Amino acid sequence: MSSSLCNSKSNRLKGKVAIITGGARGIGAAAARLFALHGAHVTVADILDDEGPALCTKIGARYMHCDVSLESDVAATVRSTVAQHGCLDIMFNNAGIAGQLGSITHLNSKLMQNLLSVNLCGPVYGIKHAAQAMIKGRVQGSIVCTASSAALMGGLGSHAYTMSKEAVVGIVRSAACELGVHGIRVNCVSPHGVASDMLVGAYREILGREDLGAEAVDRVVAESGSLLKGRSATPEDVANAALFLASDESGFVTGHNLVVDGGFTSACNTMSFIYQ
Ligand code: NAD
Repeated sequence: MSSSLCNSKSNRLKGKVAIITGGARGIGAAAARLFALHGAHVTVADILDDEGPALCTKIGARYMHCDVSLESDVAATVRSTVAQHGCLDIMFNNAGIAGQLGSITHLNSKLMQNLLSVNLCGPVYGIKHAAQAMIKGRVQGSIVCTASSAALMGGLGSHAYTMSKEAVVGIVRSAACELGVHGIRVNCVSPHGVASDMLVGAYREILGREDLGAEAVDRVVAESGSLLKGRSATPEDVANAALFLASDESGFVTGHNLVVDGGFTSACNTMSFIYQ
């Protein structure tokens, strides 16, 4: 477990019931560890049926096979979690895929639709079924979705990926408008440059280097992917932001996109000579 997680002493999610999609590895796994550490009853919902249960055994969470592109799987995950714990307080719609890189002139519509079914329909189904359960149980819950820096700038992911993540920000704002009357908050977190399996895979494809590892991607991000030189993003950076949005500490925050990008999308560095 990373030291930034071990240092946390408070029980910021004590007794809360949480579902984390895409929680078997990467950012989702860091969130599962952190939420469990802060006292939540966590259900990890993923399609990685080896990694998911192994992680859950370690952190005292529950695993459910759930392909977020299938509404029936998402509905069953929410139903089963409520049956187990009596309610649902937190839904973290985090599962996502990078999709096919390359020119829009060669865009494969089947692959695009597959990406949209995971990256966009997944969060939509998650918001829908979590909201149903929260309204029924009169729970003033928190729904968090994972968008991306690619929702704010072009050129950071495939066309379909960029489109899907901007749409996630859109559905978050739209759902926040409707669900506020029930006290349900809907927010998103936008990571950038976490050397997860997804990002390392994308770099391997772009650079044509199968040998590329997480350390090399970390270095690229630390050198040119943020304003914080020498500092790359970790899964825990994003998990900490999701924890804030999931917890009561963000009680007056809704419809918000919390960007965790080391300032990358806030500034254009091509004129940095003006500070010299
Ligand atoms: P990752 O590949 O390590 O994790 C993605 C997880 O989603 C995996 O556990 C995977 O099995 C799961 N998943 C994929 N398809 C699924 C499906 N159909 N149903 C259920 N689970 C599924 O990558 P990550 O970087 O941890 O990605 C987590 C989220 O963060 C994604 O939404 C991604 O788009 C987003 N994101 C990541 C970065 C980054 O720098 N790594 C940047 C911006 C956004």
